[in-house]
Amino acid sequence: MQGAYLGIDLGGTEIKAVVVGPGGDTLFSKRESTHAEQGRDAVLETLVGLIREATGRAGLPVLAAGLAIPGVLDPETGIIELLTNFTPEWGGFGLLEALQVQSDIPCFLVNDVRAATVAEQMWGAGKPYRDFICIAIGTGIGGGLVLNGEVYAGSRGAAGEIGHQTMVPDGPRCNCGNLGCLEALASGYAMARDAREAIATGDVDLAQAVGTDEPTPEGLALAADQGNVTARAIFSRAGEHIGRALGNLVCALNPEAVVVGGGIAMAGELLLRPIREEIERRTVVFTPRRGGVALHLSPLGGRAGALGAAAWAMKRSGGERAK
Ligand SMILES: [Zn+2]
Repeated sequence: MQGAYLGIDLGGTEIKAVVVGPGGDTLFSKRESTHAEQGRDAVLETLVGLIREATGRAGLPVLAAGLAIPGVLDPETGIIELLTNFTPEWGGFGLLEALQVQSDIPCFLVNDVRAATVAEQMWGAGKPYRDFICIAIGTGIGGGLVLNGEVYAGSRGAAGEIGHQTMVPDGPRCNCGNLGCLEALASGYAMARDAREAIATGDVDLAQAVGTDEPTPEGLALAADQGNVTARAIFSRAGEHIGRALGNLVCALNPEAVVVGGGIAMAGELLLRPIREEIERRTVVFTPRRGGVALHLSPLGGRAGALGAAAWAMKRSGGERAK
């Protein structure tokens, strides 16, 4: 049956919905504020409302919906295990069942970066490759692995948590509880923290360049572009940590490419250059004769999660084979 698929990306501040047609074309898209602070029932109501609106306005029958979650979930039972930036009542909640009761189409849940990985594989920078790594650098750091043409799930569906590799054994505390994770050293959150600490200890130039004591990663990127030394050093250091973590993965998995996405990746070469240099420095075992590893910026940007959720629904409901 000719039909479309709905993808919803549940973010901490914004919910993005997109309906994708048989050829990957966008038939409907909408963004709404999440209002996570209003609690679980309010967010659920927004999600169900979006499913109804999207299925009503797509112009084609919507065959299934995928929902990308910024946290840890059991993809089979659809129970949320961990959802930071949301109210605690989400932990242990049977989200899939709650959605399924209120919607007329089959729903599927997936981690948001795994969803973005599927989108890169089907419609983005990962299209030409059978083996690639996706990394999303935003407030946190997430990832996904495509191995031998398939998104690799691992034994419990959680493979790709590449932001929680230990890079510095006694480094800063990560949101997961461990010390020195990549996410605690090189995420948008970590960069903003380092900038704040520099300002607090008297870096007047940086304070002037960002115009505040509480800089955002975007403000920091602007300051770096304008030549501020501390801002540039923060991006270089973050890029080196990311490149080292990716270098380790490249040695273990021998992928053809790495695709870098997420809001912080929009800083472009500021971050990509140190990442590229560090991957090269740390993967000497792979001689250029073996082709090295290509590094791409995601062409899908902020749409990757929602597109990937739609692609996930397509794959899980068997639509990919029917296409
Ligand atoms: Zn961690």
